[in-house]
Amino acid sequence: MRQQIQEALRLSKADYTEIRLEEKESTRVVFQGKDLENIGSVLDKGGIVRSLIKNKGWGVATFNNLEDLANKVEQAYQCALVASSPEPIELVEVEPVDTTIPANLERDFRDVSLAEKKSLAERYNEVMRGYSERIIDTYAVYSDSLSRVILANSQGTYIETERPSVAVVAAAIARDGDNIQQAYETDAGPFGFEYVLEKDELALKAARQAVDLLSARPVKGGVYPVVLDPLLAGVFIHEAFGHLSESDFVYENPKAQEMMVLGRRFGKDLLHVYDDGSISGLRGTTLYDDEGTPGRRNWLIKDGVLVGRLHSRETAAKMGEQPSGNARAINYRFPPIVRMTNTAIDNGATPFEEMIKDIKLGIYACDAYGGQTQLENFSFSSGYAYMIRDGQIAEMVKDVILAGNLFSTLENIDAIGNDFKWAFTSGGCGKGNQYPLPVGMGAPHIRIQNVTIGGE
Ligand SMILES: [Zn+2]
Repeated sequence: MRQQIQEALRLSKADYTEIRLEEKESTRVVFQGKDLENIGSVLDKGGIVRSLIKNKGWGVATFNNLEDLANKVEQAYQCALVASSPEPIELVEVEPVDTTIPANLERDFRDVSLAEKKSLAERYNEVMRGYSERIIDTYAVYSDSLSRVILANSQGTYIETERPSVAVVAAAIARDGDNIQQAYETDAGPFGFEYVLEKDELALKAARQAVDLLSARPVKGGVYPVVLDPLLAGVFIHEAFGHLSESDFVYENPKAQEMMVLGRRFGKDLLHVYDDGSISGLRGTTLYDDEGTPGRRNWLIKDGVLVGRLHSRETAAKMGEQPSGNARAINYRFPPIVRMTNTAIDNGATPFEEMIKDIKLGIYACDAYGGQTQLENFSFSSGYAYMIRDGQIAEMVKDVILAGNLFSTLENIDAIGNDFKWAFTSGGCGKGNQYPLPVGMGAPHIRIQNVTIGGE
């Protein structure tokens, strides 16, 4: 295969050519209510060629049949010939790499029988169903996948990577009269089958949360000091801030360019934010991105000041900055675009008890349940939340929606916890029509003053 790929690249007439081939095996088991809803394995195989003619633009060819790569390279070249980029496209220089990155699985899920995977999902489903008579519906999923990706380009890069993923999802719906509440928990990572064993507690938590929410009162709308748990803080920094750091967006959007000026103050001195694809064992780990650029730690906010952003080779060249290793594609059907890897608020110094002890009336918001962002405005629903009264965690409340302006919210972060945690949630990030891309999110608890909470 290597020989065919290199021969096809050698014949290319473009200024730059890249071939990415992928073979992905995946398995999924879904229980809904008392029924097995879906079970099966899929093998997906294909490739993409991307060609660049500097004064014209990119040409792309995608395919499922991996024969005759030279012809696919020619197709991409023909597309590039008729492209009409408004300005010449340059790629920032990246050292060619020749390497293999195998998956290192303790127990390879490809060697586990479908029956065992089924009984695992069934067990988590039964844990939820057995929790309470008020649980009226459940959804339990086991899934795994392993992608083998070969990336080669005309500059000498040849990288073979195995990307594993294993996940469980447990969702429960509880009912009391016409009061219906739901909760879900997930756990996922680039690991073997061993990772998703013994997750009864996760299923139990989803069921318990849904039932507890039945007796929670809706939160009273207003402006509160809010403490976010690490999961919600991670989602917040990814959604509300991280996407604005993606340079393809910044470059194309004049409003974003105005907002994202390096050196601009975004928060107090205690706020540090980074994106890092080089940490192994996380959902967004990208030792080499889909252009062959090595992942690294990219500081985005340091001491409260905007200091960096995320790049592909093209955006780095356009903006005269360093490549950051953030060109990622969800699969072989798409060219890479600028994406986050593992994005985090760096650990701070404040213990949780310290953070809440001076709050007379506030909210402790946990877990995210969807949200929206539009440039600097965001709104998020927390999965569940509690009131904070006189420095103590008090009763559970529901329907907590945090809304606000990114800049004033970041500025209002006045305490950062010392309990940093990476989230290992399933699902992923969406951009354009590339969804779900596995990403990592991390944060400690954070406290934000003056947050507008929607509610009754
Ligand atoms: Zn996202």
